[in-house]
Amino acid sequence: MTTLDFPVETRLLVAGTWRESSTGETFAVSDPSTGRVVARVADAAAADAEAAVDAAAAALPEWVGLTATARHEILQRAIAGLRRREDVIARLIVHETGKPLAEARGEIANSLRFFDFFSQEALRLPGEYWPQIQSDRDAYVVHEPVGIVGAITPWNFPAFMVACKVGAALAAGCAVVLKPAEQTPLTALAIAEAFVEAGLPAGILSVLPTNDPAGVGRVLLERPEVACVTFTGSTAVGQRLLAGAADGVKRVLLELGGNAPVVVSDDVDVDKVVGQVVRARFANAGQACVAANRVYVHRRAAARFIDAFSTAVQELRVGDPWEATTNIGPLIDIRAVETLEDQIARSVAQGAVLRTGGRRTRDTATSAFLEPGILTADGALDTFGEEFFGPIASIVVAEDDDEAVRLANDSRYGLSAYVFSGDAERGRRIADRIRSGNVGVNCALTSDPALPFGGVRMSGIGRERGRAGVLEFLESKTIQVGRR
Ligand code: ADP
Repeated sequence: MTTLDFPVETRLLVAGTWRESSTGETFAVSDPSTGRVVARVADAAAADAEAAVDAAAAALPEWVGLTATARHEILQRAIAGLRRREDVIARLIVHETGKPLAEARGEIANSLRFFDFFSQEALRLPGEYWPQIQSDRDAYVVHEPVGIVGAITPWNFPAFMVACKVGAALAAGCAVVLKPAEQTPLTALAIAEAFVEAGLPAGILSVLPTNDPAGVGRVLLERPEVACVTFTGSTAVGQRLLAGAADGVKRVLLELGGNAPVVVSDDVDVDKVVGQVVRARFANAGQACVAANRVYVHRRAAARFIDAFSTAVQELRVGDPWEATTNIGPLIDIRAVETLEDQIARSVAQGAVLRTGGRRTRDTATSAFLEPGILTADGALDTFGEEFFGPIASIVVAEDDDEAVRLANDSRYGLSAYVFSGDAERGRRIADRIRSGNVGVNCALTSDPALPFGGVRMSGIGRERGRAGVLEFLESKTIQVGRR
């Protein structure tokens, strides 16, 4: 896929070879901004997943047996190959997701930073040693790769999610069977090409796009050779995977939904804060689990904040993702638009006011554009307990910091949260009281390879990224050695 010739035709990557599906079936991938079919993709069946697991099991001893330096070098060669493909992958991301080209370029550049970080971590996998822990013995702990990892990724960041999971698992010395989202398999396949070219042993990375996620997922859950399933996606599917992993007592890492609250206190410089909240809500057309969903603004700052926020939101340009001036492209599909329209209608029925946006901008028979919008309400509504996966912000006026914190914490999720205050100390004190895996104080959250990321409560289990993200793919073995 170094040049794009539409519709692109792709195969599965199994056992180091590119092959058709065992059933011969394919499925179509459409560009959400045009509705055009951009690819025909080999559709993996359960038998292909079985073959991928077999190949991973066969290849694992060689991969585990390599020195850290040798693994690092292969990962570095793959990164060089990804750099050569950066432009093509950015274009694939635009075609698959509809996100603006600048955001797609940012995503692949960021993914490269993460792959590079993980390749460096491969050089410094930890170990511990206790000389004479008891009078008659020494002890040491080695951290061994868990083995085969099943990775299931979502469509909203088709490169970055692959970098977080595949980069960390390979660095840990694991093999990966990757099942990308059916909406966005092309990016994952293009990334995998660079790993094949880099000399990754055959079978250490397989890629199985499929129109039957449950069928392929079942193989990953049921095969005893698969030690760990790492998943990013909806809470509902995460729950299903967790239940499915019970029989095999399998390690499950889940990065699930969020419903990020934003606390805005009364001492803020509204103009500064608005830009950050707009970024936190509307990046990726609001289709991000860290996206700022619910804003709780102090009564004394509310009028100024709502005015400035509305103006900023109305300035966002919705349109063609290939245009440099576009801020927001289409949503992933019509279903996503319909879900948001339903959430808006139910919010309005509960007393919310739709201040701006929230309407389709084009004939949605072929595209999925929705104007960025704002809902305001006097108090918390039931619907604000739901994740709005798109460009709709809700704002609730809070009496004081205490009420804002209480409302912020009144959620079954706990992935990300934001706090804005003119006084950094006050901001930090509020952040301390918020139950969330990640909090941005006076800033929109950005991803950094060094920083662990993950959720509490129904937002997930485990941590991704950073050293913590590699450790999740290792397990410790404690060895005691008698002294003579
Ligand atoms: P969304 O609703 O945002 O598409 P999903 O949780 O449905 O989020 O999808 C995230 C990922 O989970 C995708 O790769 C999808 O194919 C996969 N998936 C969906 N259902 C299942 C399932 N039953 N088993 C395994 N993977 C699944």
